Amino acid sequence: MSVFGVFKCGNAAELTYYGLHALQHRGQEGCGICTTNGMELYRERGEGLVIEIFNEKKLTQLKGDCAIGHVRYSSAGGGVDNVEPFLFRHHTGDFSIALNGSLVNSNQLQMSLETQGSIFQSSSDAEIIAHLMKMNRIKDKTNAIEEVLTMIEGAYAFLILTKDKLYACRDANGLQPLSIGKRNGGYIVASETCAFEAVGATFVRDVNPGEMVIFEKGADPKSILFADKSSHKMCAMELVYFARPDSEIEGVNVHTFRKNCGKYLARLAPVEADLVMGVPDSSISGAIGYAEESGIPYEIGLIKNKYIGRTFIQPSQELREKGVRLKLSPVRSLITGKRVVLLDDSIVRGTTCKRIVRMLKSAGAKEVHVRICCPPMPHPCFYGVDTSAREELVSARLDVEGVRQMIEADSLFYLPEEYLRKAGNETGLCLACYNGEYPTRLY
Ligand code: AMP
Ligand code: SF4
Repeated sequence: MSVFGVFKCGNAAELTYYGLHALQHRGQEGCGICTTNGMELYRERGEGLVIEIFNEKKLTQLKGDCAIGHVRYSSAGGGVDNVEPFLFRHHTGDFSIALNGSLVNSNQLQMSLETQGSIFQSSSDAEIIAHLMKMNRIKDKTNAIEEVLTMIEGAYAFLILTKDKLYACRDANGLQPLSIGKRNGGYIVASETCAFEAVGATFVRDVNPGEMVIFEKGADPKSILFADKSSHKMCAMELVYFARPDSEIEGVNVHTFRKNCGKYLARLAPVEADLVMGVPDSSISGAIGYAEESGIPYEIGLIKNKYIGRTFIQPSQELREKGVRLKLSPVRSLITGKRVVLLDDSIVRGTTCKRIVRMLKSAGAKEVHVRICCPPMPHPCFYGVDTSAREELVSARLDVEGVRQMIEADSLFYLPEEYLRKAGNETGLCLACYNGEYPTRLY
């Protein structure tokens, strides 16, 4: 999931359209844009890709120089009702909200709100935030949001748009990324900095963990630190898998991070082989790093059909299975008779890696040595990253040798946690799905 916001930058709908395009890799299930011209809020949303939902006519109807946008992938609940931004009409002032992340105390909050009379239309935590804002009966929106921020716990980066303000909030542990950019005297806020390039904005800074930034006409952005305690625990999977290689997250370039992971893997788990390849797209940087360090030639041995979305993101197992076969194809003449080092970003259930190893072997590979750019993942994520329920996590059931046998690889090595930290310049990271150390309370 991903959010994108524009404050006082000319045609906000058009900029959001391009911004969301650059963030499309973070979710293909649905997308939406809400704008304001200072008088009205306008919203358009739908299920599908940015290019499918929006056209010039629709963008023209979204008037104004401020906007928020969202791309969604579904881990819980599909349907257009769950597509953000949500737009709420209220006599104290309309507002719109777009959220990336997940609250850990959402069940408790929703139950309490329902007991007080709230009725929910979606299964998104963004709706809980909106209800909380209104339930506390504080008229001033800034104060109302501040109050909500003391009630919610979890991993979130959300944007709220009113007729005259844009609010950007990031959770106390900074689990979800959120960055601020500048453009022609206005501001852009985005989950990943690659969206700044798409709209000609320049990076200013990250929103800090436990910070709310308020953008208001005629004033510099105002910062409010709302958390008693904050820490830097950004989701490591952002760097490992989610983010685009051209993004800089918490001061770390994603491509460089992944390349470093590959280099460390080459040092820690060398093997005699003829070529190195990575599973596209997220493991290409790692494979380049491994090849550079080991001296084994890098080859593009797997071709990805770019017109199919990320397999994991499609909801059903049946669709996922179809997706993988359509999505990747081996370059047979390169692979036949060769000893291959295969870099992959992570193993979650193990099904993707097993299929790829089989695909390479059936294309004639003599040996396939798998190198994974993060540690084994035996713990589930409670922060909205769809890493599956515990019983589906292959590393919760099997040790490394067990996984090696299951994926039918000739050897298997995972990057140890300390090297993951090193690759990220020791920036604070959440590593809970690897080590079980969750940075928040769990309910
Ligand atoms: P599998 O082991 O079959 O569950 O698939 C693992 C692959 O899915 C990894 O190599 C990643 O490319 C991708 N992946 C990892 N985590 C996620 C996630 N949270 N959402 C979507 N895809 C993911
Ligand atoms: Fe990311 Fe794993 Fe932490 Fe979830 S548990 S936020 S996937 S690092």
